[in-house]
Amino acid sequence: MTDHNPGSSPGFSTLAIHAGAKPDPTTGARATPIYQTTSFVFDDVDHAAALFGLKAFGNIYTRLGNPTNAVLEERIAALEGGTAALGVASGHAAQLITLHTLLQPGDEFIASKKLYGGSINQFNHAFKNFGWVVKWADPDDISSFENAVSVKTKAIFVESIANPGGVITDIEALAGVARRARVPLIVDNTLATPYLCRPIEFGADVVVHSATKFLGGHGNSMAGLIVDGGSFNWSQEGRYPMLSEPRPEYQGMVLHETFGNFAFAVACRALGLRDLGPALSPFNAFMVLTGIETLPLRMQRHCENALAVAEFLSAHPQVSWVSYPGLKGDRYHTLAKKYAPRGAGAVFTFGLKGGYDAGVRLVSKVELFSHLANIGDTRSLIIHPASTTHRQLTDAQKVQAGAGPDTVRLSIGLEDVADIIADLDQALA
Ligand SMILES: *Cc1c(COP(=O)(O)O)cnc(C)c1O
Repeated sequence: MTDHNPGSSPGFSTLAIHAGAKPDPTTGARATPIYQTTSFVFDDVDHAAALFGLKAFGNIYTRLGNPTNAVLEERIAALEGGTAALGVASGHAAQLITLHTLLQPGDEFIASKKLYGGSINQFNHAFKNFGWVVKWADPDDISSFENAVSVKTKAIFVESIANPGGVITDIEALAGVARRARVPLIVDNTLATPYLCRPIEFGADVVVHSATKFLGGHGNSMAGLIVDGGSFNWSQEGRYPMLSEPRPEYQGMVLHETFGNFAFAVACRALGLRDLGPALSPFNAFMVLTGIETLPLRMQRHCENALAVAEFLSAHPQVSWVSYPGLKGDRYHTLAKKYAPRGAGAVFTFGLKGGYDAGVRLVSKVELFSHLANIGDTRSLIIHPASTTHRQLTDAQKVQAGAGPDTVRLSIGLEDVADIIADLDQALA
């Protein structure tokens, strides 16, 4: 979380523009080119053999890696303070590949109950088919994670700022639980971005992103990222066989012995992405790279606008509650000052005194806000979860997921804040 310190390593904004990139060696192009190709010519037979055997780094086939994607991977690793990273097709693909590298059928992982709804579905349904068992725990009660640990536990998964309700997770406390259980702590840092929070500095071992959201920032490209924190010891008595057992397809190579503190990123690429296949399009990597160049400026404005909107709603007679950790007096305000001191992000929920019907009316009356199921766009977005994303749940389940009948979720964009507030004001009237 360092600002620029003359004479030391470059500051965050400099890295956001330059990390991983250099002028194209053949054309001099300053922006990173989109290498829109599936495959790459080998120098000779020995070169091909070395690449296929993981004895040399280089390009083979875009499912495994691509020069445009490589710049994005280096940039996010630098911004998160990790050792290496992998770009994939979406945030969900990042979660799939991360857990595929860690879990065998019958293994367990512990996840926070307060997660993006799509992640709750992925963990409850798709992952069940792989024999991966999710145990849910409450991020407001660290002991619930401790109590869920068993010999089969292989990972802990949380979000730094949790979707949708503005929950700030005590990453350092959970890193302690993970260390005692000898499992990696995986943090989904989508809502915070590394500009607001750097989970690896608080003990996270792996960071995942839906770059579809604030990193890309313009609501136009799907992408996911996995960052290897480089800190975890994978050699524990065969508990992580993808990393610690000899790989037959790589002449018996043991990935954690060969690749050390970036073995996890290599395993995600050479085993997970290779076999499961959700490759990142180089075009989308280019869009996300362009988005990241302005990440610090955008996040500052997102947070300023969100705080002003949260303050406006707190004082509005039709609003019963606002859950934004940036507000003084919010239950997560103290944690927010520790984990996201530059701002508490731009996604939060609030409650309407008029309940379900008032929520439905509000989303139909807004004009500047777009009524849709996304976050992290330049545009301000609104959704009433009870009538959309969470409609299949019972009222009790809705409340538990932070999406009760009266709840509205906002993702505050970069428009003039007076216009954002005026739109909510007219729609509430
Ligand atoms: C959107 C989102 C995801 C899933 O990402 P996709 O890019 O849509 O696959 C995961 N986690 C969080 C917090 C999200 O907001």
